[in-house]
Amino acid sequence: MKVYLDDIQKSLENFKKTVVIGAGFIGVEISDELNKVGKEITLIEKLPNVLRLAFDEDLALRAENLIKERGVKVITGKGVTEINGNGMANGITFEDGQTMETETVILAMDYHPNSVLVKEAGLPITDKGFIKVDDYMRTENPDIFAVGDCAEKRDFFTRKPCPVMLASTACAEARIAGMNLFKLSAIKTFIGTISIFSTAIGDTGFGVAGITENMAKAENFDIVTGSFEGIDRHPGTLNDTHKQFVKLIVGKESGVILGGEVTGGLSIGELTNTLGIIVQNKMTLNALLTAQIGTHTLLTASPAGYPLVKAADNASSKLFFRVN
Ligand SMILES: Cc1cc2nc3c(=O)[nH]c(=O)nc-3n(C[C@H](O)[C@H](O)[C@H](O)COP(=O)(O)OP(=O)(O)OC[C@H]3O[C@@H](n4cnc5c(N)ncnc54)[C@H](O)[C@@H]3O)c2cc1C
Repeated sequence: MKVYLDDIQKSLENFKKTVVIGAGFIGVEISDELNKVGKEITLIEKLPNVLRLAFDEDLALRAENLIKERGVKVITGKGVTEINGNGMANGITFEDGQTMETETVILAMDYHPNSVLVKEAGLPITDKGFIKVDDYMRTENPDIFAVGDCAEKRDFFTRKPCPVMLASTACAEARIAGMNLFKLSAIKTFIGTISIFSTAIGDTGFGVAGITENMAKAENFDIVTGSFEGIDRHPGTLNDTHKQFVKLIVGKESGVILGGEVTGGLSIGELTNTLGIIVQNKMTLNALLTAQIGTHTLLTASPAGYPLVKAADNASSKLFFRVN
């Protein structure tokens, strides 16, 4: 990976204008990095906002405004149909026929498992090219296990095939395969993919774990949301204090927390992981509202204004049965 990135960096040395197509995590991150070294970046996304596959509109807009403030030009709601030029890119064409000049193009979109080797070995793969596995990560051949980006994924909530490929998922699958290699353990099974993403734009972090409000509605979950914006140190006059915003997506009939989105200082990486644990363990608002949360003035929000708990409180106030 390092050599590959070194090569990209070298090949961009003599160019100033770059178009990045696709504003997912990779597109946003590479745009921000190239912007930092003085390139003129235009980031293009066909969805209404950057990071819109991962976040609801409110969080996606915060990220979009931030990356614009930092100097990246962002075009959303417009798909690209063509890269122009003969071998060397000199422009792009949008779906509405408009064109735009550029010196280089970076494609940060679409990814597929490369399972050719396994297909040639005669093992079954899914119609999307993933190696078929069971919950112990076994393929149909009892001597072959598969984990990581190439292994079949099912969504934690719906059990539908899931295209999300993450290191968090890959490592959990690897541990599960390792623990089942010689003897199966009925409790060491893969529970389905939970999207746990985080990224940083400058000193602002964005994270999401589990289902978003949009996804929940699309899948017909009956939900309420709760949110709260506080600060990540106490008192807030301390150096390095950041705002911290938490949004929770909660099953209306059960109070179970289905997902959460956060933004704030760089500590939100770990807060996102906390949300991941909450979602994987199907914790309820009640469990959060009665939880004892460790705090320290230099390291965390105040226990009286802890954004995760306050967001739970806000969600709880919208439930028919209050849980507190
Ligand atoms: C730019 C980028 C940023 C990312 N950021 C994140 C992030 O922040 N968080 C996150 O959770 N995920 C992130 N991901 C996804 C994450 O990298 C993958 O989900 C993870 O690496 C998958 O692990 P893996 O072992 O399945 O595959 P890989 O890490 O790709 O490892 C597969 C290895 O197998 C080797 N290989 C392939 N074919 C053969 C062969 N025939 N013989 C021998 N060796 C072979 C490859 O060279 C490679 O080294 C990112 C991905 C990219 C591309």
